[in-house]
Amino acid sequence: MKAEIIAVGTEILTGQIVNTNAQFLSEKFAENGIDVYFQTAVGDNEERLLSVLSIAKQRSDIVVLCGGLGPTEDDLTKQVLAKFLEKPLIVDQEAMTKLDAFFATRPTASRTANNDRQAQIILGAKAIKNPTGLAVGSMIEVDKTTYVVLPGPPSELKPMVTQFLLPLLKNEAILYSRVLRFFGIGESRLVTELSDIIANQTDPTVAPYAKIGEVTLRLSTKAKTEEEANKKLDKLEHEILNTSTLKNYHYGYGDDNSLAEVVFEMLRQKKKTITAAESLTAGLFQSQIADFPGSSSVFKGGFVTYSLEEKSRMLGISLEDLKDNGVVSAFTAEKMAEQSRRLTDSDFGVSLTGVAGPETLEGQPVGTVYIGLATEDAVFSQKIMIGGRSRSDIRHIATMYSFNILRQALLKL
Ligand code: ATP
Repeated sequence: MKAEIIAVGTEILTGQIVNTNAQFLSEKFAENGIDVYFQTAVGDNEERLLSVLSIAKQRSDIVVLCGGLGPTEDDLTKQVLAKFLEKPLIVDQEAMTKLDAFFATRPTASRTANNDRQAQIILGAKAIKNPTGLAVGSMIEVDKTTYVVLPGPPSELKPMVTQFLLPLLKNEAILYSRVLRFFGIGESRLVTELSDIIANQTDPTVAPYAKIGEVTLRLSTKAKTEEEANKKLDKLEHEILNTSTLKNYHYGYGDDNSLAEVVFEMLRQKKKTITAAESLTAGLFQSQIADFPGSSSVFKGGFVTYSLEEKSRMLGISLEDLKDNGVVSAFTAEKMAEQSRRLTDSDFGVSLTGVAGPETLEGQPVGTVYIGLATEDAVFSQKIMIGGRSRSDIRHIATMYSFNILRQALLKL
């Protein structure tokens, strides 16, 4: 198999960027027994790209084009290839859904018709998923030549090549993974609950991984198509969540997901607002909410009330009551949640108060945390013990607990 790499981009010709994509592709192809006979670089110019394509067609079995899939006017690779092959461009639905999801979480980003071009593929082409970007890749065979289109940024091109392109070219099964995320259960208990499944695993495989405060399970399988993989992964996921108590702890999917993100999405979808009064975590909860674009639609503001006096002054709680009940108490957590909600007129008020250590406080051991949650109709608190952890872990894990309590309340709506 003779391959040819065409890097598209004027920046390469002017020396502004080094053509590392060609080097990477050549190296990977060589490792996989595919001979690269030619490397070409061409500017963002229709006429010259067409001429390079007509030469490549004569001499190569595989023509890989990289770069020029972006949303700007000079990004013309797919359009020119479509013209060359005399085929129309169509929308790849999966890539369009990804684009929709991207813009839905970024209301301030303006979407243009050009953005939608990133989800297009040539009619008859097989889409190559882009796990780290928005521009979908593709592969199509026409008159015994295979044309591959990949985006320019190496951070996007590299995973697409290793995860999808090489297996496709070698007609091999591709590794598909699904990550299930759990909160509120330790790794050892999770593994014990799944001991039969883990002991008998062959395909798909199951790999647990403990992170601070949570556990993930990676289910992996090799399959020729995503549909085939999903069938196997669905079956195993169903078994895991339904033959154990794990369903109660399962909160989401994906490598980059988090409890904060899941809760933020739920708040957004249910059009609910949130505030917080934080002592122990001094703003961690609020900062995590504000990390997400569009947070102003769910978060108006909140309180960091570290000292007893500020809890009283900022939240309007009687100083005597605070002293009588103690800072680390159900009473204080509930009052903080209730008052923060009332003062900001939010749908939910969350509070965190506790002992981060290293010293004990009010005779309570390090890791004692009270989390309060106030809604329009009720206020309650939960005591949590986070033992044997550093100060920073306690604050971090307590924040996760507060998101989880909120998630459970939102699930009931
Ligand atoms: P984008 O959506 O970012 O516009 P694109 O597919 O249109 O992606 P280009 O616009 O051609 O790609 O390039 C985007 C960036 O990717 C370049 O600025 C450069 O940093 C990098 N890049 C492009 N081509 C190459 C290459 N051949 N080798 C190394 N890096 C490259």
